Amino acid sequence: MKTEDYLAREDKYLAKNYHPLPVVLTKGEGVWVWDADGQKYLDFLSAYSAVSAGHLNKRIKKALMDQMDQMDVPSRAFYTDKLGAFAEKLCGLTGMDKMLPMNTGAEAVETAIKAARRWGYKVKGIAKDKARIIVSSGNFHGRTTTIVGFSSDEDYRDGFGPFDGGFDIVPFGDIEALEKAITPETCAFLTEPIQGEGGIIMPPAGWLKQVQALCRKHNILFILDEIQSGIGRTGKDFAFQHEIDKPDALLLGKALGGGVYPVSAFLARKDVMDVFDPGSHGSTFGGNPIAAAVGLEALNILEDEDLSGKSHELGEYLKGKLAAMNSPLVTEIRGKGLWIGVDIDPAQVSAREVCERLRHKGLLCKETHETVVRFAPPLTITKEEIDWAVEQVQDVLAEIVQSGQKKAV
Ligand SMILES: *Cc1c(COP(=O)(O)O)cnc(C)c1O
Repeated sequence: MKTEDYLAREDKYLAKNYHPLPVVLTKGEGVWVWDADGQKYLDFLSAYSAVSAGHLNKRIKKALMDQMDQMDVPSRAFYTDKLGAFAEKLCGLTGMDKMLPMNTGAEAVETAIKAARRWGYKVKGIAKDKARIIVSSGNFHGRTTTIVGFSSDEDYRDGFGPFDGGFDIVPFGDIEALEKAITPETCAFLTEPIQGEGGIIMPPAGWLKQVQALCRKHNILFILDEIQSGIGRTGKDFAFQHEIDKPDALLLGKALGGGVYPVSAFLARKDVMDVFDPGSHGSTFGGNPIAAAVGLEALNILEDEDLSGKSHELGEYLKGKLAAMNSPLVTEIRGKGLWIGVDIDPAQVSAREVCERLRHKGLLCKETHETVVRFAPPLTITKEEIDWAVEQVQDVLAEIVQSGQKKAV
């Protein structure tokens, strides 16, 4: 089959809830992927951080295959030999007391909402059905109806109401607005430490520390969604480690599944997690032995291969090289670790067109909103591969500047 045939078949049978670049991927290995015509690309998106350890990472594959010889999905009606080891490792790395395993990121967020509300009623003493959660504007926490209900992006919400309420939105990174929004009925503040889908938006330095102090002062839970920023992406194991010892609760997903299997987790202080009792929450696949084996290995790789250190070092290197291009099309470059947002001047060219042109040069990335190109390669990338990628970016931006000049003549 040819590329056009694959595109036509997907377009015929798939819901149009995505707008993919017209490339048909058939194979992946490390930082590289190949399309149906045998063309090779450097993956500069890594499935929004899900493939941080590289495509078909050999250790992840071995953990998965070894587990496939042992045990599949028994459900949580029984104990298994794998789940405790995974939980122990994850709690050790994050500093959290306990974890609750789920599958997708959105499910981890839903779990956090349930935990925060129950904690609000049972521990903080908020009146029945009155608990409120504060969130940040520009947030992305997933796609369930509850979660899109507190999005500030109309594309995510349009046509999916009515929404239940119980959420208050404050500007991201604005400590004063957060303090003003807190009432005796507030049980939690839920936010990303850096907004990924929002366009790699960074809060002011010191904000996480201020939020932590404010949450303690008002006895509300500080819940961090590190589904995209966690597991080494920002140059630390978890983005909160740039500023604080730990939040009250933490959400992980994406890279926790080693790129091969959906694994997510809600982690929290003991008194928060203890609001769950048997029957109050669950998931058929959550924490199954395959998920646990893969998740544990993803964490072992993070540690053994110092992915966080690499992300920090190579992220600084990549940011420096991008800045040195001095392209007139680029209005800002920001990020932490190998997680970089490049703002493209919309008066000159769309971020989508930049991504389409990069694809023709063998570099795969994806725009977020209309004006930001996000660079988030696997953390296993080498300096030489980054050099090659930057050459492609430089070529594409130069091409666009030239064609603009021709048009102007
Ligand atoms: C991707 C993402 C989610 C949702 O994860 P899914 O696995 O797609 O449900 C939630 N929060 C953040 C910050 C994310 O990046």
